[in-house]
Amino acid sequence: MTPAPPRDTGAPVPAAPVLEVSGLRTHFPVKHGLLGRTVGRIRAVDGVDLSVRPGETLGLVGESGCGKTTLGRSVARILQPSAGRIEYRPDAAVGPVDVTGLSGARLRAYQRQVRVVFQDPFSSLNPRMTLLQIVGDPLRSYGIATGSELEDRVAAMLTRVGLSPKYLHRYPHAFSGGERQRVSIARALIVDPKLVVADEPVSALDVSVRAQILNLLRDLQDELALTYLFISHDLSVVESVCDRVAVMYLGKIVEVAETDELYARPRHPYTEALLSAVPRPDPRLRGTGRRIRLSDDLPDPARPPAGCSFRTRCRFARPGVCDIAGEAPALSPATGGHHVACHLTDELMLAGVQGAPV
Ligand code: SF4
Repeated sequence: MTPAPPRDTGAPVPAAPVLEVSGLRTHFPVKHGLLGRTVGRIRAVDGVDLSVRPGETLGLVGESGCGKTTLGRSVARILQPSAGRIEYRPDAAVGPVDVTGLSGARLRAYQRQVRVVFQDPFSSLNPRMTLLQIVGDPLRSYGIATGSELEDRVAAMLTRVGLSPKYLHRYPHAFSGGERQRVSIARALIVDPKLVVADEPVSALDVSVRAQILNLLRDLQDELALTYLFISHDLSVVESVCDRVAVMYLGKIVEVAETDELYARPRHPYTEALLSAVPRPDPRLRGTGRRIRLSDDLPDPARPPAGCSFRTRCRFARPGVCDIAGEAPALSPATGGHHVACHLTDELMLAGVQGAPV
């Protein structure tokens, strides 16, 4: 019997994700001794499930060392994952492609569509290359344009990111940090990508120019229909630019939610602790919230705690529940559209960034 077509309920149909990551692991060997024997593995990304919707900005937050940069680079296939799947769907009309094992020409084609803007515009630009060479290099290496056509395209892209085309033959040292980051953005976008992994794109910049670069990224997203995976440790920046936020701890995603919802009603104790440190713009509220100080440093990612990996720093950790080996909490749906990895999420009353009572 032919199945009946789905009933039209009038509700908006969610767009298929442009990127769907499942069970992703990126581990690095720990070597020891003269023979370089492998004695362990750093689990930088350790079983991540994550989807990115077309046209959105998905924030990826967490402390330094939590694995967010490794996850971004694994997604862009600058790093080779150890296990799991990265399914990429460039067009809603076609099925997803697993890009985890791509190599050669197919990997290069993927990397043309998924580009990275790096954190530090001082070290990421070759000081011996002019802006024309830096921004034009991807056009040349992908065989898209050469000669005067390449120069015209680079000039147009410089204009688009707010730089004068008369700078084409200048070197990076002639520019400020904000201008260099505009060059990095131009280099990433010159080949018309669909997804941009922006890895701490404003954290190396003066506060005065951060807003300009964030506005530029927003404008380019609208103009070019881009999707962003926006990596940052700065929750104020993430709140201002992201549609949804994924919180990462010790190689795993522990919470995902819409930005407003996550900042108002966090469901994971780690998210709550991060939010308690966010400065409040309203001076009347400053100092009234309760800062939750996390104990100790991040555990060694080569030897994560058994059970819930956050339990050594969690003020709600319950012996016999949170420390059972082999029973790490899975990322599961919770109220408010959250996905949370915590055994006790239904019991906890957590404070949002505006300092709701704890
Ligand atoms: Fe804290 Fe336990 Fe929840 Fe982990 S599972 S976040 S230790 S309450």
